[in-house]
Amino acid sequence: MVHCAFIFDKAILDGLTDRADRRVEFIWESVHELDARLREHGGGLIVRHAVAEAEIVKLAKALGVESVYANHDYEPGAIARDEAVSAALARSGVAFKTYKDQVIFEKAEVMTLGGTPFSVFTPYKNAWLKKVTEKDLFSRRYLPKTGQFTPQVLDIPSLESMGFVRTNLAALKIPSGTSGGHALFEDFLKRIDHYDEARNFPSVKGPSYLSVHLRFGTVSIRELAKAALARWRATDSDGAATWLSELIWRDFYFQILHHHPRVENRSFKPEYDAIKWVNDPAHFEAWCLGKTGYPIVDAGMRQLNETGYMHNRLRMVVASFLTKDLQIDWRWGERYFAQKLIDYDMSANTGGWQWAASTGCDAQPYFRIFNPTAQSEKFDAKGAFIRRYVPEIAALSDKDIHAPWLCSALVLRGVDVQYPAPIVDHALARILTLEMFKQCR
Ligand code: FAD
Repeated sequence: MVHCAFIFDKAILDGLTDRADRRVEFIWESVHELDARLREHGGGLIVRHAVAEAEIVKLAKALGVESVYANHDYEPGAIARDEAVSAALARSGVAFKTYKDQVIFEKAEVMTLGGTPFSVFTPYKNAWLKKVTEKDLFSRRYLPKTGQFTPQVLDIPSLESMGFVRTNLAALKIPSGTSGGHALFEDFLKRIDHYDEARNFPSVKGPSYLSVHLRFGTVSIRELAKAALARWRATDSDGAATWLSELIWRDFYFQILHHHPRVENRSFKPEYDAIKWVNDPAHFEAWCLGKTGYPIVDAGMRQLNETGYMHNRLRMVVASFLTKDLQIDWRWGERYFAQKLIDYDMSANTGGWQWAASTGCDAQPYFRIFNPTAQSEKFDAKGAFIRRYVPEIAALSDKDIHAPWLCSALVLRGVDVQYPAPIVDHALARILTLEMFKQCR
């Protein structure tokens, strides 16, 4: 007999300070869908709110199973949890079997010819593309047979019973479950050929919005990569090739975390652990709240706060602004993203933050510093995205909206005075940042 179980892990959930958490609600809805599908086949999902490390062992003993099956996790905390579960199960004579699922290639599957891990993306990607075969992209679909699964009688714990409340997930139209993941992917496939151009403009529906589904396993990375590769090979689509590259970046950062677990909270380039960040708490608060006076930065941060998602271009802009304009430690930003992002993933998040802060593998060189105003003029030229999230300055012209502090008093009469003046001067901050980096080289 097969028993399917899902634990809302208290070891994780108890640490969440915001009791309205879109991720918990997304998982909770997805678990309901999975349970309903299993019930159609005479089964159901055992769902518990408990400490996973202890509960899995307790369940395995109560059900008298021979083996427990799970998939690999790559975060240091999760690896420690799984090792503890494995040891406890072994003491009771139960096997613990784990498999690759989250990524196409894991751990040391893609290595340099010299047998060392890659730390630069392009050669990694070339080796990945050379290695990938049909077999690597094959998705296993396990269809239960009636009678094979144990029917479940217990209800799924409510969000309230676990100490959480509903969020604005429904209003944001983020569809959950495998049905939601498939719907998003179907929609994206109509746009995939234009992805390479459209993906940079936050006001345009360019990306796939699949990150939350990749994070929680409600889409198969193999199905996505297989479709992108097939489209690229069949039509030479630049959009499909670029999107496949992004999926490979995902594998790349997973293997970086595997080979260099210190990147969880240390610089990939150790010399940059010596950076003397300024870390002004008032500046950090302004950044978190989207009140820095730089409209494109504020629009990105408000999108994150209001929706739990942020467009990739803006993740780069706000991360660069925090580290290079405010000289605040990338780990402060990484932690804030970890609290807020619906798609938070330690490998991609530490990878993205260290890329922007120039402390990571294959990162921006420290002297290449985004100019937030130039980024705004280039990627939100008409200010459409800024107007959506920073309505105080919506009345400004397409030209003025990127840098309200340059407008004359006459122009500013139509603008809500609540919008702050820039908290730092970009040109001056740039000089100070270059000095800060030079001092630890
Ligand atoms: P699409 O553009 O449609 O891309 C498809 C998928 O490719 C994404 O869902 C994601 O799984 C993967 N992908 C795309 N870009 C990257 C990348 N640079 N690195 C790794 N994988 C990538 N992504 C996360 O999933 N979780 C995070 O916590 C996260 N934090 C980030 C922090 C910073 C500072 C930066 C610069 C980037 C971060 N990213 C993170 C990467 C990227 O911004 C998001 O994956 C992307 O915006 C998600 O939107 P999408 O699904 O519409 O992406």
